[in-house]
Amino acid sequence: MKTLTMKFGGTSVGTPEAIASVVGIITQSIQQGNRVVVVVSAMAGVTDLLLESVKMAESGNRWGYLSTAQKLRDRHEEALNLLITPSQNRERALAEIAEMLDEYTEICQAINILKEATPRILDAVVSYGERLSSRVVAAVLRHHGVSARAFDAGEFLITNDAHQQAVPRWDVTQARIEQKLNPLLDQGVTPVITGFLGATETGAVTTLGRGGSDYSGAIFAAYTHSDELIIWTDVDGVMTTDPRVDRRARVLPYVSYQEVGELAFYGAKVLHPKTVQPIIDRGMPVRVRNTFNPSHPGTLISANGETTSTVIKAVTSVRNVSLLTVSGRGMIGVPGIAGRTFLAAARAGANILMISQSSSEQSFCFLVTDKSAQDVKLAIERELAAEIASKDVDRVEIQNDVVIITAVGSGMRGTPGVAGRVFSVMGEAGINVVAIAQGSSECSISFVVEERNLERAVTALHDLALENVSS
Ligand code: ADP
Ligand code: ASP
Ligand code: MG
Repeated sequence: MKTLTMKFGGTSVGTPEAIASVVGIITQSIQQGNRVVVVVSAMAGVTDLLLESVKMAESGNRWGYLSTAQKLRDRHEEALNLLITPSQNRERALAEIAEMLDEYTEICQAINILKEATPRILDAVVSYGERLSSRVVAAVLRHHGVSARAFDAGEFLITNDAHQQAVPRWDVTQARIEQKLNPLLDQGVTPVITGFLGATETGAVTTLGRGGSDYSGAIFAAYTHSDELIIWTDVDGVMTTDPRVDRRARVLPYVSYQEVGELAFYGAKVLHPKTVQPIIDRGMPVRVRNTFNPSHPGTLISANGETTSTVIKAVTSVRNVSLLTVSGRGMIGVPGIAGRTFLAAARAGANILMISQSSSEQSFCFLVTDKSAQDVKLAIERELAAEIASKDVDRVEIQNDVVIITAVGSGMRGTPGVAGRVFSVMGEAGINVVAIAQGSSECSISFVVEERNLERAVTALHDLALENVSS
């Protein structure tokens, strides 16, 4: 008997029809003799709605959050009423949803009175998305004879208190899953667990960062000792590029952990960047499959990926980033300036996405998200105040109309001339490359172009990836 962890994304649980497909996928797998651990996202769009409603409450817009509560009630009730015939099971689920939405409204009233929401309160509000969807999915599964039970992930997944970007506490989480969840699996229970959420040891709800349900799926897959993690989403698998940017995108049948790590880090939304972390050492296979096209085999992610002549496998892009440049004639040969700059950036809480240095040593640049750029600039200016005063460092500049484009493929390793091909393609397309970096893994090349060139750069580079995909 296999244990499979199946994570269903927002679109997969976004409508009654989608939930019906989800339930079909799960029941079929159970009938085939598998044990299934289900992890669900909030219904599509719900997390955004909840976050907006906090802003409404902060600004005193009572009508705004009350109407959000009504919308949420309608969507979840509609799914229950359409998918379950009148029964005690349905009545109980409807009552539970009504109770949760009353709590949600009360929290919004409190925010409305205080006119302020802390990150901890934001997490509490946003948790209702997954808490509601998990109740609906569990109830529909029960209606189909599965002994399903909804769980708030915080019962098992324990994190630190870095609200909105919480980090799991591995030992406690492992112990909780192994001691509390695995025995239920042995008893034949199909757990339906909220993705995206955790809790501190004192019980405050935390979240793992936007798109974090994939990560939740991997954590539960790891400690339930699953044979496989399946990420069910709204595309056929990991593709050669974002199909929304270039419709010619094709599904990649095999990708390695390392490749998918680079893809996700550099913007492929299909998987949260941390997803492979909990399972990579276990060598657990991950599949990415389409809830709306379940007969498609999807993408298999494993240690090896695929050994073909493929050089560039996929192309990604990251928007909403800023390029910070530190420059000055006095920097030549002065040790430590780069190190101090990056420490200052880290202290400002910034995640550095890419670093590049010009060979003249007169400047170096790096990329952070738009949100953190200004704070990072100020932190560096403070750190390098003496060098700026003595004019060894001229200035710290921010350019925010840029994007990162990345070409990924483990075949690049040891293949000469890949970078040359990439940049001659950019040259032919008349696109100016602002900065370049290659990861030490040699599994990706990233570079920066102006935002207005994003589609053209991705499409031109994607031509190279498509050359290698057999149709
Ligand atoms: P879910 O709600 O299931 O987690 P997401 O919207 O987070 O789904 O991720 C799936 C989306 O990721 C796809 O609809 C697609 O537009 C986008 N995407 C971006 N890059 C890629 C890629 N390389 N391969 C597949 N999908 C991608
Ligand atoms: N619902 C959360 C979000 O929208 C988590 C997820 O879908 O993965 O970010
Ligand atoms: Mg997602």
